Amino acid sequence: MKKNPRVAIMGAGVAGLACAYELEKMGVQPDIFEMAKQTGSRGFNHTLGWINLMYRPVQDPVMHLKEKYGLKLRAMEEIRRVNFYTANNSATLEGKLGYIFLSGPDERGITSQLKSHIETDIQYESITNFRELSQNYDHVVVATGTPEIPKLCGIWKTDISGYVRGATVKGNFDPKTVGMWMEKTYSQSGYGYFVPWNDRKGSLILNMLEVGEYGAKLCWDNFIDSLGWDVEYEEFYETPHNIGHVSKHQVENLYFVGLAGGFLDPLFAFGSIECLASGAAAAQSIVNGKDFTKLTHMWLRRNQQLLMMRRYVDKFKDEDFDRAFEVIKTPGFRSLVTRTNVNIIYLLSKLTNTFASKKVDRVLY
Ligand SMILES: Cc1cc2nc3c(=O)[nH]c(=O)nc-3n(C[C@H](O)[C@H](O)[C@H](O)COP(=O)(O)OP(=O)(O)OC[C@H]3O[C@@H](n4cnc5c(N)ncnc54)[C@H](O)[C@@H]3O)c2cc1C
Repeated sequence: MKKNPRVAIMGAGVAGLACAYELEKMGVQPDIFEMAKQTGSRGFNHTLGWINLMYRPVQDPVMHLKEKYGLKLRAMEEIRRVNFYTANNSATLEGKLGYIFLSGPDERGITSQLKSHIETDIQYESITNFRELSQNYDHVVVATGTPEIPKLCGIWKTDISGYVRGATVKGNFDPKTVGMWMEKTYSQSGYGYFVPWNDRKGSLILNMLEVGEYGAKLCWDNFIDSLGWDVEYEEFYETPHNIGHVSKHQVENLYFVGLAGGFLDPLFAFGSIECLASGAAAAQSIVNGKDFTKLTHMWLRRNQQLLMMRRYVDKFKDEDFDRAFEVIKTPGFRSLVTRTNVNIIYLLSKLTNTFASKKVDRVLY
């Protein structure tokens, strides 16, 4: 290993900043190139739901980041209740269910918090070419949050083409309660969700699959009609949100992390924790020569399990969603979620892959 490697990081999102933080801890100061004029992922502010259950085998994501990486991140609020709605059913889970964070340029946002942990200056509005960087640096960490560069390198495979529309809404809300809606007319096998900022404001988001911009608008209108909420819509945003994986995370001296490395879960399209973990893993691999795939194996494996579940859920009709949510009402499921650390994702993926007609190959990594 070279003693003081020259490292370039493309993208100052959660993955890129986590990489910078870990590198600095080990005495390496990277150059960070950010295309936008500020940090904040895609430029708009929205809440992030860190629902503990979705990150199993990790029990508590905030504690995990603190214990494993020494990262102290402040949540806006804890999640104490999740209300689920399907076409003809509803269910509620209560307990210590997770955390609410903010994504976007806001100074309370997760990227601002990460930025405050690092010393390196970020070079904003920089237009860089990964091939040139690759020639001028010992290592280049691609943390651009999109599949473009891995596609150019021929290592990307899209598993699900996703599209997100969202809005900031003003009304009266319980700041600890998150809502999730699953109905074919507006989300097909995706879902809508609401995560509050506080008791007066929140982010309403629709995660759609296999629809383009026009279809997404129709789905969004159906979603809003079906909710019939008496709220004020303040800010709208939309973005493609493709989910896929890469065949390898290292190509010559390039590392692919965050969304650019396929670290986004294929069932809920959530990814903050694993994007962070993948950025830190690239730093460990660069400085200590550790195997990147081994360091991130837990997340890659979990995503494969979630992809198995996704393939199964893709075939659901409204009645299937109604029935699935009966399970949430059972005391057994509730205590499994709130009182144990059982890896429910693993168990359910085994079950669903057995029943799914379009099976997912068991081992990608
Ligand atoms: C609307 C929405 C809601 C979400 N909700 C949740 C949630 O509730 N929970 C959850 O866990 N996850 C959620 N996610 C996913 C989560 O936001 C992502 O997993 C995470 O932000 C990805 O981190 P990243 O660092 O890979 O990319 P990003 O955070 O997108 O950062 C990439 C950065 O790279 C910059 N960049 C791009 N191209 C270049 C270039 N060529 N050169 C230099 N810089 C470049 C971008 O400007 C950006 O700052 C959500 C995503 C969206 C879009």
